[in-house]
Amino acid sequence: MLINPDRFRRSMEEMARIGATKGGGVNRLTLTDADREARDLFAAWADDAGLDLQIDEMGNMFAKRAGRENDAPPAMAGSHLDSVPNGGRFDGSLGVLAALEAVRTLNDKNISTRRPIEIVNWTNEEGPRFPPSMLGSGVFAGAIPLEAAYETRDSQGARFLDELERIGYRGEAPCAPRSIGSYLELHIEQGPALVSEGVQVGVVEGIFGLTWLRVTMKGERDHAGPTPMHMRRDALVGAARTIAAIREVPARLHPEFVATVGEFSLSPGAINVIPDDVRFSVDFRHSEPELLAEARRLIEEAAHREAAEENLEVEIQEVGGSTPTAFDAGVAGAVRSACEESGYSHRSMWSAAGHDARYAADLGPTAMIFVPCIAGKSHSEEEDMDWEDAYRGCDVLTRALLKTADS
Ligand SMILES: [Zn+2]
Repeated sequence: MLINPDRFRRSMEEMARIGATKGGGVNRLTLTDADREARDLFAAWADDAGLDLQIDEMGNMFAKRAGRENDAPPAMAGSHLDSVPNGGRFDGSLGVLAALEAVRTLNDKNISTRRPIEIVNWTNEEGPRFPPSMLGSGVFAGAIPLEAAYETRDSQGARFLDELERIGYRGEAPCAPRSIGSYLELHIEQGPALVSEGVQVGVVEGIFGLTWLRVTMKGERDHAGPTPMHMRRDALVGAARTIAAIREVPARLHPEFVATVGEFSLSPGAINVIPDDVRFSVDFRHSEPELLAEARRLIEEAAHREAAEENLEVEIQEVGGSTPTAFDAGVAGAVRSACEESGYSHRSMWSAAGHDARYAADLGPTAMIFVPCIAGKSHSEEEDMDWEDAYRGCDVLTRALLKTADS
């Protein structure tokens, strides 16, 4: 391996002590004191490595190692140091600290690169405190207005901007689109594909698109006793049959297609009243726009069919979504050849979860690297990985970063 695995592990373990939970995870919600402490530690390490640290208006941190052509768009690598409540200690930290280890390795070996290298720690990747997720990279890519991000409030009413200032990370560099030479993000897979297939590295070629729908079904509220069955317009029955049909949609389209009904409410919600108003959400994801469109058609068809069967009114609204993001074949190719150089088994895959790399891909050629996640568990204190897998991921990131920084 090019890298120093022991040094990398020590840094990962030291970072994991900040916001550590009893269950072995971390609690580092964005812009909390724990987030500040994690940022301070990263800043100190960047300084030790001789990097020039810039903080932008969103608190995104960029630690730059000079290149031979220092004005060339940088080869970037990074991820996030914030976590979900009681999250895992690899989610995010792995990508930031592996990029740091890559730079430390280049320093040790006196390797210079054509482009400068920038390690990035994105603000508020996770989003449970200040929704939406990927706020820092979203503003950086010009997809979310800075003012809107600043005005976001948490459930206690605290404003994003005030919290950013409170922890001392409202920087001066503009948070606005700029050209990047390449972007690489190493991340724990958060799913079971690699671990179940025994593959060491995932070459991530894109991020699934997703569609969010909100379905409302309206029937007639009536007495559960005297109303004969054939006269009922039961909104819950129509909704339940529609949800059962949605469960069958993915299998008709593609083995990796996923669809979820995650929110549900009914009214009035009384044991002796026929429900007249039911609302539920649908989240469905895949890499192919045509299959997303086909899923939507099938879901709408099922909702209208089941509503007609029960004589209900139905309304379907799109409330969010994103198109699939295909990464750059050249950067993904650099990851693949890094695996081959080292003799690591690898496979191509797409990410079903969102990552900052989605926004980075708007600004320059991007790819991600996934490493196996024990039992596929993440966003939980139980998230864990084999250290050998972490070292391999760090090694692949270092090699791929060297290639992109010299391209
Ligand atoms: Zn993450």
